[in-house]
Amino acid sequence: MKFWRRFHPNIAEDDPRYHQVSLLYSVLLIMLVYFSGLSILNVTLFDGAAIAAFDFAGFVLAAGIFVFVSRGGNFYVARWLVVFTLIFVLLGFIQLSQGRNYSFLWVTLIPPLVFFLQGIKVGTWVTAAVFGYCAWLLNGFLNTGVTANLTLGALFNFVEVSIAQLFIFRHYERSRRAAYRQLQKTSVTDPLTKLYNRLYLDEKLNEAFTETPNRKGDLSTAILLIDIDHFKVINDKYGHLIGDKVLKAIAQLLKRTARGTDVVGRWGGEEFLIICTETSIEEATILANRIVYELNESPLMNDITVTASIGIADAHPGQLSSEAVLQAADEKLYQAKKEGRNKAVF
Ligand code: GH3
Ligand code: MG
Ligand code: MG
Repeated sequence: MKFWRRFHPNIAEDDPRYHQVSLLYSVLLIMLVYFSGLSILNVTLFDGAAIAAFDFAGFVLAAGIFVFVSRGGNFYVARWLVVFTLIFVLLGFIQLSQGRNYSFLWVTLIPPLVFFLQGIKVGTWVTAAVFGYCAWLLNGFLNTGVTANLTLGALFNFVEVSIAQLFIFRHYERSRRAAYRQLQKTSVTDPLTKLYNRLYLDEKLNEAFTETPNRKGDLSTAILLIDIDHFKVINDKYGHLIGDKVLKAIAQLLKRTARGTDVVGRWGGEEFLIICTETSIEEATILANRIVYELNESPLMNDITVTASIGIADAHPGQLSSEAVLQAADEKLYQAKKEGRNKAVF
């Protein structure tokens, strides 16, 4: 377990903030170690009291941010404070050492950290501003001849590498975010029908029926448990592959018929679940009847039609567990089957 979890027990591994918070604490720890070590080195080895003072200031600031964020301080503010502290100490150091001893190398730490902490847009601006400032500074050192080993060639190298770094990290962060989004989407999508999968439905059911303090007395949530009638016959008659295509077509029809706010998912096999938040049982029944009607009216593919039986149940947050609501819908579904199929029961 990460050490910082003790300060933020409610940020679980699947929380979108998890990696950023993790990086924030790692950066803070590294800052504490580096800045304390560097201030000692600069005093003892290099006789650089002014630089040591900057490093020490960085240490104090990092410690302050650590205390701030571990006591529940705003992450957004903390991230900005980290970025400012880093830039403040690094630029102070470069200025004081007047570009000697490859001190400019330190600014190459800026892009990976800022892009990850602040995102692509802010990362681009901050990185460009810091690199631009450094190039201007280097040019000044070059003109005054203060740094002996600095040449025009070195300045060019700095500028070229900076620009390349800016674009590489920008691209890297963009593809990292896209990959993360894709992964999140895949993890909640049923591969055949592209509807939400069981994992996501379970999560949404829990959310809908669990009472939370600020949602007391909310409108009820209704669920529709849909089972295709005699689906085995479709498979036996046309084959499994066509059966799959029919399931896909049913999924399309359900999405088309449901409202934008409804969560439409595949519960398993030839069973589907629709979660209708803030919906009364009457409204849910209208939707269920529309689905029954649409299935009867529209051939899915190659003139294949199917019918469905639908069980409807509802509850207010905190009234019933999601298992109990599902159980109720399942009983209604069973009743619909018994009463001859091709109908909705609430
Ligand atoms: P009813 O619900 O009306 O009682 O009859 P049914 O034939 O639909 O019921 P049953 O639950 O016995 O059968 C479901 C069938 O759905 C059996 C299974 O082969 C088929 N099925 C489940 N998942 C898939 C799938 O992913 N693709 C295909 N092609 N068929 C599937
Ligand atoms: Mg079934
Ligand atoms: Mg069935």
